[in-house]
Amino acid sequence: MNKIEHIGIAVKNIEEANKVYKSLLGQEHYKTEAVESEGVITSFFTCGESKIELLEGTSPDSPITRFIEKKGEGIHHIAFHVDDIRTEVERLKKEGFRVLNEVPKRGADNKWVVFLHPKSSHGVLVELCQEIK
Ligand code: ZN
Repeated sequence: MNKIEHIGIAVKNIEEANKVYKSLLGQEHYKTEAVESEGVITSFFTCGESKIELLEGTSPDSPITRFIEKKGEGIHHIAFHVDDIRTEVERLKKEGFRVLNEVPKRGADNKWVVFLHPKSSHGVLVELCQEIK
């Protein structure tokens, strides 16, 4: 892992949140993207080397909708950039981390993604992401 790629924030209304994060970061989001398989709509802001990903659930059984029901809006996950996601998954499994999807999924912003269970990492949902070439 070589940097925090982005921080994912669960929001109820992405258009409202876009306005707030535009004020906060002093710039517009650079893309909006739906990830059908996860039932979410996302928007991305850059902040130096890292990004902020806002996520709104698009259905009642979306993981984001369920997260907000349980915990309210807020930080949902931290994503780390990796160069070789499969090697990193093997390493983390050996270290005892619980991998939620061993086969990388196609995530937002042109990335292969794998999630680690929050119980493995003191309550933080961890995403590994690798650029899709
Ligand atoms: Zn993410």
